[in-house]
Amino acid sequence: MSDNCIFCKIISGSIPSEKVHETQNIVVFKDINPVSPVHLLIVPKKHIPSINDLSGEDAHLMGDVFRVARELGTTIEELEKNYRVIISTGPDAGQVVPHIHFHLIGGRKLTWPPG
Ligand code: AMP
Ligand code: ZN
Repeated sequence: MSDNCIFCKIISGSIPSEKVHETQNIVVFKDINPVSPVHLLIVPKKHIPSINDLSGEDAHLMGDVFRVARELGTTIEELEKNYRVIISTGPDAGQVVPHIHFHLIGGRKLTWPPG
């Protein structure tokens, strides 16, 4: 928990969100500014600022993230099992919230490369 972190506040419930899934270590909620018909944020409850701050002890947690991504990606009908999982690291890569999170987007034809 980091005092000034918006995602820690969502996790603790002091800021509202549209939660769609929760496990012991992870919450999933709808992105407030969706870029596609489905735009979810898969967020570990542990305050880790970015990929750069991961350590060996987070390996299991990262496995859990991809299990959750697979579960959502294969059960949300609108996705038809086609989706993208995105992690931005650092401001030049577009990271705005310094609490590690995984965008799960889909529900439309996605283009490449991203901006
Ligand atoms: P990033 O740019 O990778 O750091 O992504 C941060 C994401 O968090 C953006 O897509 C925002 O739209 C989203 N976001 C910011 N505040 C909230 C909030 N209160 N509830 C849901 N999503 C949020
Ligand atoms: Zn945080």
